[in-house]
Amino acid sequence: MENYIISLDQGTTSSRSIIFDSNSNIISIHQKEFKQIFPKSGWVEHDPLEILNSQKRTLNSVLKDFSFDKKSIKTIGITNQRETIVAWNKNNGLPYYNAIVWQDTRTSDFCKNLIDKNLSKTILDKTGLVLDSYFSASKMNWILENCPKAKEDVEKGELLFGTIDSWLIWNLTDRKSFVTDVSNASRTLLFNIDTLEWDDELLEIFGINKNCLPEVKASSDYFGEVNIENHIIPINGVAGDQQAALFGQCCFEKGMAKNTYGTGCFMLMNTGNERIESHNGLLSTIAWKIGNQVTYALEGSVFVAGSAIQWLRDGLQIIENATASEKLAKEANPNNEVYVVPAFVGLGAPYWDMNARGGILGLTRDTGIAEITKATLDSLAYQTKDVLNAMMKDSKIDLKILRVDGGASANNYLMQFQSDMLQIQIDRPICKESTALGVAFLAGIGAGIWKKEELHNIRKVEKVFEPNLDEKTSEIKYQKWEKAVEVIRSWTN
Ligand code: ADP
Repeated sequence: MENYIISLDQGTTSSRSIIFDSNSNIISIHQKEFKQIFPKSGWVEHDPLEILNSQKRTLNSVLKDFSFDKKSIKTIGITNQRETIVAWNKNNGLPYYNAIVWQDTRTSDFCKNLIDKNLSKTILDKTGLVLDSYFSASKMNWILENCPKAKEDVEKGELLFGTIDSWLIWNLTDRKSFVTDVSNASRTLLFNIDTLEWDDELLEIFGINKNCLPEVKASSDYFGEVNIENHIIPINGVAGDQQAALFGQCCFEKGMAKNTYGTGCFMLMNTGNERIESHNGLLSTIAWKIGNQVTYALEGSVFVAGSAIQWLRDGLQIIENATASEKLAKEANPNNEVYVVPAFVGLGAPYWDMNARGGILGLTRDTGIAEITKATLDSLAYQTKDVLNAMMKDSKIDLKILRVDGGASANNYLMQFQSDMLQIQIDRPICKESTALGVAFLAGIGAGIWKKEELHNIRKVEKVFEPNLDEKTSEIKYQKWEKAVEVIRSWTN
């Protein structure tokens, strides 16, 4: 009998459920968007109950599609938007406040205050992260300081704090399991990534009581069980979305990396059982833990990637849809040397310049929409090279292949240019759902469906892009990009 795996992929804008067979084919997929709540400038919230309901609805939909015996569904994996935090009451199950989303910057001043107290180094040493409102801890503190009932219930031992995985698991297991995995815990600013425990000093800094936090498990472990139509299915895999994608891309060995081209880009490199300190503004984080084996990763992100293509579509209105950018870029005059630097909200690694703003450089009379579109796509590849250079410097690893996924990785022009720019192979898999596949893999390992070593045969390559621009020309183009970045930074700073 075939074995099937359910992946629940709880993202920032939608919840998805997917059923995979044991060859990683998608049997059924359903997706439901939910509301983005912006109460004030810089604030981003989700309704935790709406998230739960959207996830349950998509789960019911894939089950409805599933025509085989439900007993052949062996396990469930859960992957989720990271850092977003929920606080709820363990007796009535109700949240004290909306989920505060990773993008929310309401606690920037709180974090600045901690930076002024010279706590950045302690935090970096213990967590591998920078002291920033992006991560969960300051958001938890905000809930305690702003919801009197929440603070009161901490004393009574009734308040639970969890990232989205914990919130979903607690509800799906009928309130029996209050757990998370190491990859999600490592994004809270409260978890020591060397000792693999909630850290007392960090809890003190952020004013969080340890009793409010979930038990931290390995990524492929037993997380509880879900009753589906009287059939009991265990949850055996949990990981934050980017780590799950790294696993789904089978980047199991030290030095393997993936880049996800979504709204922004997220690049992660497996650094093995060794945690690498970044000197170039990257994060070190836990990739996953299987058995007693912990794997670490270096992570770098590009703030504006696919969203620059949305800007071409919705802002400039020069393309009908994202897919159309490929054809237009291929029609552009290759001699028109325009550079678009889409620093709409500043620049991330390795520049970390929040004041920078974007620019278009090198315009000539014959620059048209094709050239602007091409230059915007190019900017995704240049920014990826910026991050990858930082990663190679930190890790001293010379990358040979970059595995890719995410919406914009479908663009063949972009992938070819990426290969030209990095002078390495770009490997695009058939299954574009690396995130969901990653936790399906973790859950499948936990349920005994696969051995990790076998997964290389299950991941199937759709296309490999080889560099077809000579190294020297590639280098000259990149140097011009670096110069363009310098120009826009001197403009705004
Ligand atoms: P997210 O998970 O961040 O929502 P997705 O992985 O779904 O992102 O990718 C969507 C992004 O990819 C959008 O910003 C869109 O503009 C971009 N995109 C989608 N298809 C293409 C394409 N063919 N070429 C370039 N960009 C694309």
